[in-house]
Amino acid sequence: MNALTTAAVRADSLPAAGSLQIRGLTKNFGDAQVLHGIDLDVPAGSTTCIIGPSGSGKSTVLRCVNRLEESSGGTILLDGADVSQLNDDVLRRRVGMVFQHFNLFPHRTVIDNITLPLRRVRRISKDAARQIALARLDEVGLAEKADVRPSSLSGGQKQRVAIARALSMSPEVMLFDEATSALDPELVKGVLALMKGLAEAGMTMVVVTHEMGFAREAADNVVFMDRGVVVESGSPEDIFDRPRTQRLRTFLEQVL
Ligand code: ADP
Ligand code: MG
Repeated sequence: MNALTTAAVRADSLPAAGSLQIRGLTKNFGDAQVLHGIDLDVPAGSTTCIIGPSGSGKSTVLRCVNRLEESSGGTILLDGADVSQLNDDVLRRRVGMVFQHFNLFPHRTVIDNITLPLRRVRRISKDAARQIALARLDEVGLAEKADVRPSSLSGGQKQRVAIARALSMSPEVMLFDEATSALDPELVKGVLALMKGLAEAGMTMVVVTHEMGFAREAADNVVFMDRGVVVESGSPEDIFDRPRTQRLRTFLEQVL
């Protein structure tokens, strides 16, 4: 059985999508200002891809959204609520994040990787957590891997476990930070297909990616960042077919 063709996230298993509104976001690390007033609107149920050169601040934007980094200024609203006012567990539940390097616990089984944070954050019983985890694993095509350790999985499978883990919290928004950058080329497609399915199922997503094909196909909006500012944003056609600035044209010449 090819799990990739059968895996799919059901729209009816997703919670209500949330919107994200970022206004004037700034971030300093010591004396260095790395975000210079970022504005970003992600309507509920839409997908925004953030592209741009390394060091431009893409990860920092995502990390400020779920408060892995503290913002220096500006506001971030999750469905109208200021994220700086939400407690950590509420924020972790409402905003899921998927990282380049998966961040799975190596000494725990796949299912424990999902149920442990789920039980801690959502405070549900072991049995209920297991049921949710198995349903999510099934959606990403990995139900049969529930009891193995992550080290026995391919990179693509690990990333699908990380996505299942994030989804198990029933987040209103999902953040992806170069989720396919660490994968062998042949494993990228399956993970992108899963992400595209999520986007089509109506999940609100912010996706930092170097995969321009994915951005073109799956994004409602594309944002080009450089040196801590949003240089251009628009539809995929605006960004890829009608770039307005030399900075974006130069970037696209390098990556396309
Ligand atoms: P991108 O994801 O676009 O590659 P980042 O958001 O990771 O960019 O980084 C933006 C800038 O902030 C870079 O200059 C980076 O060196 C700096 N930076 C990121 N994290 C830290 C940190 N924890 N301490 C100091 N500087 C940081
Ligand atoms: Mg980054």
